[in-house]
Amino acid sequence: MGEKILVTGGAGYIGSHTCKALKKAGYEPITVDNMVYGHDWAVKWGPLIKGDILDGPFLDQVFRKYEPTAVLHFAAFAYVGESVTNPEKYYRNNVTGTLSLLEAMRRAGCNRMVFSSTCATYGVPQKLPLTEDHPQAPINPYGATKLMIERILADFGVAYGTGSVCLRYFNAAGADIDGEIGEDHDPETHLIPLIIHAAMGLRSDIEIFGTDYDTPDGTAIRDYIHVNDLAAAHIDALHYLQSGGATTCLNLGTGVGNTVRQVIEAVEAVSGKKVPVTEGPRRAGDPYALFANAVQALDKLGWKPQHSDIKTIVDTAWKWHARHHGK
Ligand code: UDP
Repeated sequence: MGEKILVTGGAGYIGSHTCKALKKAGYEPITVDNMVYGHDWAVKWGPLIKGDILDGPFLDQVFRKYEPTAVLHFAAFAYVGESVTNPEKYYRNNVTGTLSLLEAMRRAGCNRMVFSSTCATYGVPQKLPLTEDHPQAPINPYGATKLMIERILADFGVAYGTGSVCLRYFNAAGADIDGEIGEDHDPETHLIPLIIHAAMGLRSDIEIFGTDYDTPDGTAIRDYIHVNDLAAAHIDALHYLQSGGATTCLNLGTGVGNTVRQVIEAVEAVSGKKVPVTEGPRRAGDPYALFANAVQALDKLGWKPQHSDIKTIVDTAWKWHARHHGK
């Protein structure tokens, strides 16, 4: 049995792909998930303990039983729109939940965490590509919760020696290269699964949110990063902390953006199907473009995306959805 790593939110999208990568790297992933959005079928590489990170005595039991040496912390609510209408839910689950987890870690003497942060902590970009030292001014409660946790981790590092790596994901996308697991959100709000659903006839169309942006085809640009690449970065971050690396925050993106129309074209090319498209207004709070400078992740972790060209992202996502929906 390998060294045990606690994975909160291990039954979710990025968490489950990372459990697979952990197992492959010789670790034993121990998933803790409250199953609000997690899936039993996504937990295949280690035990699943159902419970909430807000529950301190529950966490104490898990730490006592498994004695994990580090925590990969994915558990969070992540619907930007809902965070605006119900911020209480987000601050409680994301911020208070993380504090509860950090307290349990301290009681157990576990002092390493890799944390799922986001480019949403930057807010509206003043300069592209986004570097880690870009001002962080989130424009919604979801991004604010993630920024607060980054700050808590920095303070815990100074006060208690908790080592952490905050990984600021750009747009997580795609499905496991081997096809074992994939993305399944309910409700689904993300662009690529929605386009695929439209191509499969599971929804009537995909609405493009804004066609008048100052971009080559008028639609917004995002930096799509394959979920297997994100998973690999967590293993690299774990190794970094284990070899004494200092607390840090790193962007995880490709540095290359794709427009909404380019993503639609990629789905049409992979699937051979025409995607019904409608053109709608801009979505409130959407920047015209977001893409990363990810040089620091290469420098500090030796991490480079391997599967994040848009064709591979869309191809793996398409195959997963086709199987998942029995198409
Ligand atoms: N988008 C869109 N139609 C949709 C969903 C998303 O045009 O039905 C656009 C959205 O405005 C953004 C990009 O697709 O420019 C990616 O959106 P997503 O919600 O997947 O991720 P976000 O960048 O908001 O985190």
